[in-house]
Amino acid sequence: MKKKVVILGGGISGLASASFLAQKGYQVQLVEKNDQLGGRCRTFSAKGFEFDMGPSWYWMPDVFERYFEQFGKKVSDYFDLVRLEPSYKVYFKDEEVDIPANYDQLKALLEKWEQGAGPKLDQFLKEAQTKYEISMSDLVFRPSLSVMEFANLKVLKSLFSMDLLKSFEGHSKKFFKHPKILQLLEFPILFLGATSDSTPALYSMMNYADIKLGTWYPMGGMYNIIKAMKSLAEELGVEIVTDSEVHSLETSSKKVKSAKNGTKEFVGDVFVASCDYHHADRVLLKNGSSNYSEKYWDKRKLAPSSLLFYVGVNKKIDGLRHHNLFFDTDFSVHAKEIYDHPQWPSKPLFYVCNPSKTDPDVAPEGSENLFILMPLAPGLEDTEMLRDKYYHMIMERLESRLGTAIRPNVIYKRAYCRKDFESDYHAYKGNAYGLSNVLMQTAILKPRMKHRKLENLYFTGQLTVPGPGMPPSLISGEIVADLIEKEHAL
Ligand SMILES: Cc1cc2nc3c(=O)[nH]c(=O)nc-3n(C[C@H](O)[C@H](O)[C@H](O)COP(=O)(O)OP(=O)(O)OC[C@H]3O[C@@H](n4cnc5c(N)ncnc54)[C@H](O)[C@@H]3O)c2cc1C
Repeated sequence: MKKKVVILGGGISGLASASFLAQKGYQVQLVEKNDQLGGRCRTFSAKGFEFDMGPSWYWMPDVFERYFEQFGKKVSDYFDLVRLEPSYKVYFKDEEVDIPANYDQLKALLEKWEQGAGPKLDQFLKEAQTKYEISMSDLVFRPSLSVMEFANLKVLKSLFSMDLLKSFEGHSKKFFKHPKILQLLEFPILFLGATSDSTPALYSMMNYADIKLGTWYPMGGMYNIIKAMKSLAEELGVEIVTDSEVHSLETSSKKVKSAKNGTKEFVGDVFVASCDYHHADRVLLKNGSSNYSEKYWDKRKLAPSSLLFYVGVNKKIDGLRHHNLFFDTDFSVHAKEIYDHPQWPSKPLFYVCNPSKTDPDVAPEGSENLFILMPLAPGLEDTEMLRDKYYHMIMERLESRLGTAIRPNVIYKRAYCRKDFESDYHAYKGNAYGLSNVLMQTAILKPRMKHRKLENLYFTGQLTVPGPGMPPSLISGEIVADLIEKEHAL
C-alpha cells in the first residue's frame, strides 16, 4: 500500500507539494476550502472582465521554468509568456517615468538622475546576481530546521563578504544618492512586506530579479499558472477535492490521524498544511498541540494586508501601462502608518495593474481592466465606509494624474480587504502575503516547516520558508515534499 499524504489547501504551495509528492510515488489527496483552486492567486469574471484576484507580477521566470522542468514539462506547454516593455511605469510627484526592460536604456535613465549611476548599477547588480544565484542554487531550498544546515557552507562566506546582514537601505545608499533611484531599488522589497531599513541587504537579489530577469505576463492572465499546476497535478494522479473546508486536525500518539470537515474525514499517513500557518496551528490543532503560542503569533511582523479594487471601465485610458506605481506621496509616512503606528494611511501610495493593455482577453473591446492595490497594516478595522472613502481618494488622484475622468465610466467595481482575506483564506490578521522578510524572520527564524511534536505534520506556503510570493511558494512546496520523502520514505 502506498503511503497517503493529505494536503490542506490548494494554493501554489499546496499544488506544488502535491505534484512533487505524487511524482515521488505517494498517494496524494488535496483538500481545498474554496470552490476554486489557487488560493490568493484566484480569478473571477464579471460583466465580460476577467480579474486576477492577487498576484500580477510574474517575476523570476527561471523558478517557474525549473518547476515544470522537473516534471518533464515546459512553461510554454501551458501558457505564452511575454516580457513587458516597459517593465512598469512610476508616477513620481514631479514626473512620470517608464522603467525600460532594456538594460542600456535603464542605465541611461538613471544617469539622467545621477551622474555615474550607470556603472554603479553594473556593480550593484553584479553583487545582486551573485546573491540571487547562490540563494537559488542552494540556500532557499533548505528546510531551515536547524542552523547546522547552514554550517560550513562556502557560499555563506561569500555572502557575508557582501554586507549580507546590513540593512538594504545602508547597502543601496553605498551605491546611489538620488532619491528616485533609491525608491526604484526599494520597491521590490516593499513586496516582501518590510521597509528598507529592516530588510537585510541579501534581498538586493530582488533587484537582479526585477532588472535583469524581467517582468513577464502569462497571456490570458495569472490564473493560467494555477490551471497549469492543476492540470499537472491531475496528470500525476493527485486527487483534488474542492469546496471542502477542513475544520480540525485529529491527533493521537504524537501523530495527526485525520483532517475532519464535519461530514467527511480525510485519513492519511502524512499531513501538509498549506493553508495559513496560524490557522492550521491555532485553529485546526486542538488540545494544546499547537506548534506556537498565540503570543508568538501576535509578535510576528506581518507583511501588509491590502485594500484592493477590481474595476471594469467601459473606455480606454491613455497613459497607463500594464504596471503603474503611484509613488507621488512620501512613502516614509505611509510606511509608518503600516509598521510603526498601524492605521489607515493619510496619503497612500498605491499600485494600478492594467492587464488589458497587454491582453485583449481580460476586458471587453474598448474597455479597461483595472486592479488597484493599496498596502494597509494588517488587523485594522475594515468597513464599507472606509473602503468607499479610499476608493474615491485613490480615484481622484488617478484621475487628476491621468487628466481624465474614470469614475463615470466604471461599469463594474468590487472592493476586497482584510475581512475578505480572513473569510476566504483564514488569513491571520487579514495578511495578504504572509510574514515580512525582516532579518529576525529569515530562514531558521521563520515558523518551522515541521511540527515539533506531531511527527507526521508539515507546513508549507508563504508563512514558512522560504517566504512570500509565488516563486517562494512554489519552492516551499518542493522543500516540504523532499523533507517528507526523507522522513517518511515509501
Ligand atoms: C493582493 C496580492 C497580490 C500579490 N501579488 C503578488 C505578485 O504580484 N507576485 C507574486 O509572486 N506574489 C504575489 N502575491 C503573493 C502570492 O500570491 C502568495 O505568496 C502565494 O500565492 C501564496 O501561496 P500559498 O500556497 O502559500 O497560500 P494561499 O494562496 O493562501 O493558499 C492557501 C489555500 O489554503 C486554503 N485553506 C485555508 N484554510 C483551509 C482549510 N481549513 N481547509 C482547506 N483549505 C483551506 C485557502 O482557501 C487557500 O486556497 C500577492 C498576494 C496577494 C494577496
